Amino acid sequence: MSFVKVENITFRFAKGLPAVIDELSFTMVQGEIVGILGPSGSGKSTLLRLLAGLEIPERGEITIDGRLIVDERTFVEPEQRCVGMVFQDYALFPNMTVAQNIMFGLHKLNRSLRQEKMEQMLELLHMTDYAKRYPHELSGGQQQRVALARALAPQPSILLMDEPFSSLDANLKATIRSELRHILQKTNITCLLVSHDPADIDAICDRVLKVSARH
Ligand code: ADP
Ligand code: MG
Repeated sequence: MSFVKVENITFRFAKGLPAVIDELSFTMVQGEIVGILGPSGSGKSTLLRLLAGLEIPERGEITIDGRLIVDERTFVEPEQRCVGMVFQDYALFPNMTVAQNIMFGLHKLNRSLRQEKMEQMLELLHMTDYAKRYPHELSGGQQQRVALARALAPQPSILLMDEPFSSLDANLKATIRSELRHILQKTNITCLLVSHDPADIDAICDRVLKVSARH
């Protein structure tokens, strides 16, 4: 049974413009790591934004974990979707420590559970010694790991990653790739990872979904 179901999704930025996403359908099983590969401008980020609820499709429907999140009559708000996101530019809060960044999405938990969850995440990502540091005191790779910890901490149904390695140098990228695959498998999270580099997808994903430029 499908854990994620995207059916005939069509999206355009304005009436009269060509569709950025045109009748796209695919499914994912739980725990699957799927890569989205396509050239710049092919709508990869837009697809993730549709799943996260940051854009609304013109047509089609999306179901995650048996719950309809969008169709012609339904729109579940982004914060109600249990979707975790990691972007290319980390987007950590610069004035918060690593620990505070990770706990940010855990406001629904009480203080001790929040602390416990944060410590678990630090351990998973081998960042325990960095809890009190600020983002500017970390390397790019470490910042990316914290961004991943922050996205995973609330235990989202699905993790969306948009070009997560594009700010990393080639050496670091190789290390992070294998580490990421390991972490995703360990948490058994369902994940969509966007990249324009086939090597990223090869190293991390179970399967690839190709999107092409259409204009
Ligand atoms: P990708 O992530 O694959 O590079 P995007 O999803 O960012 O592609 O963009 C897909 C297309 O939509 C591109 O042609 C882009 O120029 C266009 N686009 C992106 N954002 C906007 C916007 N806010 N308004 C109008 N067009 C946009
Ligand atoms: Mg993009």
